[in-house]
Amino acid sequence: MSQRIKIKALLQTTPAEQEVNVKGWVRTFRNNQFIALNDGSTNSNIQIVVDFQNTDEALLKRITTGAALSVTGILVASLGKGQAVDVKATNIEILGDSDPEKYPLQPKKHSLEFLREIAHLRFRTNTFGAIFRVRNSLAFAVHRFFQEQGFVYLHTPVITASDAEGAGEAFKVTNLDLDNLPRTENGEIDYKQDFFGRATNLTVSGQLEGELGAMALSDIYTFGPTFRAENSNTTRHLAEFWMIEPEMAFYDLADNMDLAEGLLKYVINYALEHNREDIEFLTQRLLDEEKSKPQQERSEMSLLEKLQFCLNNNFERLTYTQAIEILKDSTPNKKKKFQYLIEGWGADLQSEHERYLVEKHFKKPVILTDYPKEIKSFYMRQNDDGKTVAAMDILFPGIGEIVGGSQREERLEKLEQRMDEIGIPKDELWWYLDTRRFGGCPHAGFGLGFERLVLFVTGMGNIRDVIPFPRFPKNAEF
Ligand code: ATP
Ligand code: MN
Repeated sequence: MSQRIKIKALLQTTPAEQEVNVKGWVRTFRNNQFIALNDGSTNSNIQIVVDFQNTDEALLKRITTGAALSVTGILVASLGKGQAVDVKATNIEILGDSDPEKYPLQPKKHSLEFLREIAHLRFRTNTFGAIFRVRNSLAFAVHRFFQEQGFVYLHTPVITASDAEGAGEAFKVTNLDLDNLPRTENGEIDYKQDFFGRATNLTVSGQLEGELGAMALSDIYTFGPTFRAENSNTTRHLAEFWMIEPEMAFYDLADNMDLAEGLLKYVINYALEHNREDIEFLTQRLLDEEKSKPQQERSEMSLLEKLQFCLNNNFERLTYTQAIEILKDSTPNKKKKFQYLIEGWGADLQSEHERYLVEKHFKKPVILTDYPKEIKSFYMRQNDDGKTVAAMDILFPGIGEIVGGSQREERLEKLEQRMDEIGIPKDELWWYLDTRRFGGCPHAGFGLGFERLVLFVTGMGNIRDVIPFPRFPKNAEF
């Protein structure tokens, strides 16, 4: 019996009447004669030609959509259009039956909402096969980018005692008996009796620990799961998402922006080179979807063009203050079309503003810098104007914020003063402050939301469709 060959490799093999073995799942079975078999190695199927007159009737009946097969046969040049080779079956073995009456995935178009409910099976569709192969490539490319530049992949803790951002949106981690919580004299929950002897939560960011690594290893990056109990039911937020967080010693804000822009372009280019077929499929999917929309709502560029455009153009860099001027004078602001009108300097930018800048005004990725310190985190380096910090956010078309970063405040005095101002307990972060006490140096870093990157590269509209099993309010199925 021949060794199994994956369909991707098989489709590139020159047919010479050789015997081959393929395994996969049936997508369709037409005319009792043609099986479209897919094994996930590529978007394309291999066509299996069945000699139905010489095949047992009972076996033919079991070749149904979703069934798992092992097929041995002869590789021949295809007579049909659309594929170069066929396998003329000599032996078909059913590895797993699939009851056609009950199998939820029919060979027709299903809505993304329906597929989300059967996320355990949606990998078997063309769309999700393409998405998860692209996701895989992007993850690999992220590692390759950093490894090529000598960054150290650092694993920061998933359970932490610090609510770094002070955002209060962390999931608590406890093994206290919730039906019988131990209490202190004041009636508060006594976390001293908890597993770690203190209150703990799932990490909302690995940044603070990442900085500790950078203060010795120079350049580190994290790539791990992050958790936020924010009740935001948007197409851009998950309760569990993956974040890439590089931290670099001796980098300033400009170096930081260069690295982030370089990373984004590198990984997008990698996906274009290695997942051409999938991205072309997703581009066509989007074109088909947009056909039902009125002309003015359709995208000006196809997915493929958008990705190319992103590679071929420098990201627009401007300050928050410049952005506010543009937004104040913008048509949607004057005509009161924004939900949150921009009155003046100091306003926090909402996604409608970010998207105006990127999609309408500049029509390309934008990096905004030097935000008011009041709307940014305590660890960002204070600028000399006393009002702004050396922050940078990268905004992408269709996505909004994809990267958030800054030069970090390395001056102990300034950092402590800012922590006091906004009430962050210094004693809890003694270890963080220590790096400023002992050999502190200018440094910078950022966080890239991995799923937002996958959204951009796949052209999907909802973040729940680019992670295998999304976690969001009221949903933790699978
Ligand atoms: P947003 O304003 O969009 O909520 P944020 O300011 O809370 O983002 P950061 O705390 O700076 O984001 O996190 C860094 C990056 O992580 C963001 O730029 C984004 O790409 C991603 N990110 C943040 N929150 C989520 C989430 N809930 N789900 C998926 N990705 C997220
Ligand atoms: Mn947020």
